[in-house]
Amino acid sequence: MTLVPQVILKPRKARPFFAGHPWVFEASIDRVPRGLEPGAEVAVHAREGQFVARGLYNPQSAIRVRLYRLVDEPLDYDFWAERITRAVSLRRDVLKLEQPEAAYRLIASEGDGLSGLTVDRYHRSLVVRFSSLALYLRRAAILEILERLPGIDGLWSRTERGVADLEGLPRDEETAVATPQEPPILIREHGIVYRIDPRGGQKTGFYIDQRENRRAVARYCAGRSVLDLFCYCGGFSLAAAVLGSARDVLGVDSSAAAIEHARENAVLNGVAAELVRFEAGDVFETLNRLRSLGARFGVVICDPPKYARRARDLDNALKHYLRLHKAAMDRVEPGGLLVACSCSGSVDRTTFAQVLAEAAVQTGRTLQILEERGQAPDHPIAASCLETDYLKCMICRVAD
Ligand code: SAH
Repeated sequence: MTLVPQVILKPRKARPFFAGHPWVFEASIDRVPRGLEPGAEVAVHAREGQFVARGLYNPQSAIRVRLYRLVDEPLDYDFWAERITRAVSLRRDVLKLEQPEAAYRLIASEGDGLSGLTVDRYHRSLVVRFSSLALYLRRAAILEILERLPGIDGLWSRTERGVADLEGLPRDEETAVATPQEPPILIREHGIVYRIDPRGGQKTGFYIDQRENRRAVARYCAGRSVLDLFCYCGGFSLAAAVLGSARDVLGVDSSAAAIEHARENAVLNGVAAELVRFEAGDVFETLNRLRSLGARFGVVICDPPKYARRARDLDNALKHYLRLHKAAMDRVEPGGLLVACSCSGSVDRTTFAQVLAEAAVQTGRTLQILEERGQAPDHPIAASCLETDYLKCMICRVAD
């Protein structure tokens, strides 16, 4: 067995890692060997000497070591290939997502035991996002494994500004590894067509994690007026109109490019501009204006960006969610629905439900949670890392 440098934990700090949690923060570490290189493979040991896991080291990240393997064996090419195969098999054999024109998450970072690697599949193309320096440094091997997957003929690799800074990665780097399929790419979700631009779009191009929630929300929309707040390229709006037979839909997003994109998606599906309107604007300003007009909706969907990037942003984020959901709830007609989402992993389900309850009390409404939903199953939750249960989507009735 090759010897790898040892990282020693502080006394009594090893328990979560024996249980498979992949993030070792600085506060748990007693010592690392002098001169350990960023990205180095390490064996993490308890203070008492016992082996805990193999991981990758990054002195620049709050997550000093990301753990991958609970046996003392190498993190080599075969290991990455095996983990990737396992992820591919979940989508292909269990979830049956490998359909023409499909959009799904092929690799979901910690959810697939590959902390720091996210891969989305759009039709025949893959968009790869590195959020760990150590995996980024191993990108040649990882991209080679991905490129060999059957049915793939386009591959983009991206880093993201927010995450890049936390990890010491180059910002906004974008590499086309293989590009036979020129963007835009068209994908189909529940029969609705969306244009994907893996280069210009947010995240890797589309919020795939809301796929099943779009269908679930559409079931409540028949004959109702729908307000889709933070609509991005119109996912919920088009599902409400096309699948849900909504009476009319208004989608709002502050990004002019997203609104332009949403309108194109409506045209692609032959949806009339009178049925689904998209407006560029700030959600809070829009809600104020709608309030002064006395406009209320049968369904209000509220899917804001991540307010809590890190645990220490939590208090502020909760205040933000409270303010937003009060204003959103206020525009729901009595007996109508509020769809309240949060994609902050550090806000757990109970806390989020408490925020909604508080918003209801403060606006004098009665809220009933009908469906407590999460991300689509191609974003699996690692049982050993509950932060991967990040997306909350509460379908609520505003009883009165
Ligand atoms: N519901 C979307 C995803 C929303 S992502 C879907 O299903 O695809 C969050 C969106 O919020 C982004 O498109 C971003 O441009 C938008 N956004 C962020 N802050 C905003 C604000 N204050 N007002 C309006 N939109 C905002």
